[in-house]
Amino acid sequence: MEAYDVVIIGAGHNALVCAAYLLKAGYSVLLLEARSIPGGGATTEELLPKEAPGFKFNPCAINHLFIFLGPVIEELELRKYGLEYLTCDPVAFCPHPDGKYFLAHQSVEKTCAEIARFSKSDAQGYAEYIEFWQRFIKAVTPFFNTAPKSIVDIAGSYGLTHLQDFLSILGGPDTTLDLVRTLLSSPMDNINEYFDSEFVKAPLARLSAELSSPPSQKAMSFGAMMMALRHNPGMARPRGGTGALTKALVNCVKSLGGVILTDQRLENVLIDNGKAVGVRVSNGKEYRANKGVISSLDAKRLFLQLMDGSDVVELSSC
Ligand SMILES: Cc1cc2nc3c(=O)[nH]c(=O)nc-3n(C[C@H](O)[C@H](O)[C@H](O)COP(=O)(O)OP(=O)(O)OC[C@H]3O[C@@H](n4cnc5c(N)ncnc54)[C@H](O)[C@@H]3O)c2cc1C
Repeated sequence: MEAYDVVIIGAGHNALVCAAYLLKAGYSVLLLEARSIPGGGATTEELLPKEAPGFKFNPCAINHLFIFLGPVIEELELRKYGLEYLTCDPVAFCPHPDGKYFLAHQSVEKTCAEIARFSKSDAQGYAEYIEFWQRFIKAVTPFFNTAPKSIVDIAGSYGLTHLQDFLSILGGPDTTLDLVRTLLSSPMDNINEYFDSEFVKAPLARLSAELSSPPSQKAMSFGAMMMALRHNPGMARPRGGTGALTKALVNCVKSLGGVILTDQRLENVLIDNGKAVGVRVSNGKEYRANKGVISSLDAKRLFLQLMDGSDVVELSSC
C-alpha cells in the first residue's frame, strides 16, 4: 500500500495551504481530490466550452478578502509561484430603484461622501459602523492566525496594538455589555441601529449574508466584516481569476514534493485501534497515512458518510 505521513481528503485551496505548511515542516503529503481538477470552490473554469469557448468563469469564489488578514501569501511565497493580486476599487456598487445608489470606494471617507449625496446622517452612521467593525476585526485577527491550542498560545499572539484594539472594543463594563449585545444581534438589527435609508441598508444586509446565514440571523451581526474588510485590508482578485490562487498553491505544493491525485473520490477513512491510519478511494485503492488523515470536508460528510458509525464512536472516546 502506498504510504505518506499525511493524507489529505480534498484539494481545495484550504487543503493545499495545509499541505504546503506540512511539506515545509518536512512531512510527506498526498492530496486526494474527487474532481478532475484541484481547487474546490476556488477555481476558474471554461464552464460553457461549446456555447462560450475560451470564456472562463469563477463558479464560486471571486472576491478575496480574508487571505489578506493572514501570512499565507508571504510565508508560502505565492507570488514566486505565479500569484498576482489586482486590487479592486470601487469595492461595492448597488443601484436602488428610486435612483439612489450605494457606491463604496476602498476609502471610507470617499464612501461617506457618496452616501452624503443622499443622506448626511447615514454618511455619519457609515463612518461609525465601519470604525467599530474595523476595530473588531483587528481585535480578533490574532485568533485567525494562531494554532487553536490553548488560550495562552492565543494570548501570546497579541502584540501591543492588538491588545489596544481588543481593549477598545471591550472597554469599561458598559462597552463590554454593548459589545455582547451587538454580537448577539442579527446583521439587520445592527444595521438598523446605524442607518435609516434602504439604499444603504440593502447592500450591507446582502454582504452580511455572505457568511451563509440570512441578515435576520441572531448572533451573526459580525457579517458586517464583509463590508469592513473591503475598506481595510481591501479586496482583490487574482490576475487570471480565482483559479490563479489554486494554480500558485499547486505549484508551491508540487515544488515542495507534495503529490496531488485527481479523480480520486474518497469512500472510507480507515480506522485502526481508534486512529485514522489511511483511506480508501472509490476504485478500491488504499493509501496509508503514517501520521494522520486530514479532511477538508465538512464534518457531516466526513463523520456520517466516509466513516462507520462504530468508528466515529471509537474515535470520539479516544
Ligand atoms: C457560490 C459561491 C460564491 C463564493 N464566493 C466567495 C467569494 O467571493 N470570496 C470568498 O472568499 N469565498 C467565497 N465563497 C466561499 C469559498 O468558495 C469557500 O469558502 C472555499 O472555496 C472553501 O475552500 P475549502 O478548501 O475549505 O473547501 P472546498 O473548496 O469545498 O474544497 C473541498 C474539496 O474536497 C473535494 N471533495 C469533496 N468530497 C470529496 C471526497 N469524498 N473525496 C475527495 N475529495 C472530495 C471537493 O471536490 C473540493 O475540491 C463562495 C462560495 C460559493 C459556493
